[in-house]
Amino acid sequence: MRAEASVDPVLDRETMLRAGRRAYDRCDELAALSAVKGSIHRFHLTSQHAWANALVGRWMTEAGLQTRIDAGGNLVGRIEGSSPGLPAVMLGSHIDTVPDAGRYDGPLGVMLAIEVVDLLRDAMPGMPCALEVVAFSDEEGARFGSALLGSNAVAGNWRDEWLDQTDVQGTTLRQAFRDFGLDPARVRQAARRPDELVAYLEAHIEQGPLLEAYGRPLGVVTSIAGARRFALSVTGEARHAGGTPYDRRRDALVGASFAVLAIESIARRRDIIGTVGEIHAYPGAVNVVPGRVEFSLDLRAETDAERDAGWAEILDTITGVCQERNLEFHWVEEHRARAVACAGWLRQAIADAVAVADPEAEEVPMLYSRAGHDAMVMADVTDIGMLFIRCEDGISHAPAEAVTPWDVALAVEAFAAATRTVLTADRPTTDRSADA
Ligand SMILES: [Zn+2]
Repeated sequence: MRAEASVDPVLDRETMLRAGRRAYDRCDELAALSAVKGSIHRFHLTSQHAWANALVGRWMTEAGLQTRIDAGGNLVGRIEGSSPGLPAVMLGSHIDTVPDAGRYDGPLGVMLAIEVVDLLRDAMPGMPCALEVVAFSDEEGARFGSALLGSNAVAGNWRDEWLDQTDVQGTTLRQAFRDFGLDPARVRQAARRPDELVAYLEAHIEQGPLLEAYGRPLGVVTSIAGARRFALSVTGEARHAGGTPYDRRRDALVGASFAVLAIESIARRRDIIGTVGEIHAYPGAVNVVPGRVEFSLDLRAETDAERDAGWAEILDTITGVCQERNLEFHWVEEHRARAVACAGWLRQAIADAVAVADPEAEEVPMLYSRAGHDAMVMADVTDIGMLFIRCEDGISHAPAEAVTPWDVALAVEAFAAATRTVLTADRPTTDRSADA
């Protein structure tokens, strides 16, 4: 449905292209803040994170935002509406990365949000809400294993037991907060109340190939699949490779290999997504039968029910394989997020804005997110909406991640129009879970 009447065109073409180009170029500039020269490694509460907060904070200030670092290490900028202290529409994404990352997963959403503020700043004195931009400190979980630490602090989900988690150097999250100049006992103070927020909107690269296949630059996210992550281990017995006959072996790596293949075949058959991304064999010597193997599992699906049924079958199958081979199987669940629906009124605002920014689209693409996002956590405290931007060949979490400046310019136009609509909209009073 076209809704020109409800969407003010905030941009002329030249302004849109300039804003898009600046957001695009700033992703390049931010990419240089890395722990490893020549590639992008930017983790939670590191010095690269502090530099990124400083640089992005400067851009926020230039756009008219008052900035602060909250108690969780997130960078938050705010511009008031018609009077101080009004509830805010919050825009954001994350500025941490996976190891050897691309430049757009996370940062592009923050850069787009800053451009939106820059475009709407003159209109803010007439707005019935404030506008905020947040650059979340940790979404990927690359340093401490637990993902979404930044948005969980803001959404009021903080758990102090997370402070005992360690990075590969053995530094606890508690110590990392101190080293960053923050008090680990006060992370909860980053929490926002539902009455402080009107909505949370996030723009993000799709991280998949669907928009490219549709031939469209922008899409509207309907819901976000929730992942479960497990640490799995198979234990047998380490023995001399030459001296131990097959019928005496308890080879943990052969057992784990059957498990990996079973995970793929079960996930494919059920049309869910199961990935073993890490595997380590011990003791790890060429002439020793592996006695222990540790590996990871990331499991996701459109609905929680499909995902959980898949896990039940995987668990059953691996347990059977290990019994047959006289191996022990252990698992620990390290992360679980539920599937989250985007609110109907925000989906509509974004869809109307996309229809105006991309008038050649016969139909605005609507798709669910296979990847997790800060928005899924923010759904605990406010309504959420998401805009997806096409990325080349669906590549993400890799250096080859790519978008075009033109698509980014269209994203600025759509995100600004959607934000303006949401700032002035009558908020529905209905239960937001009913929008699914
Ligand atoms: Zn991301």
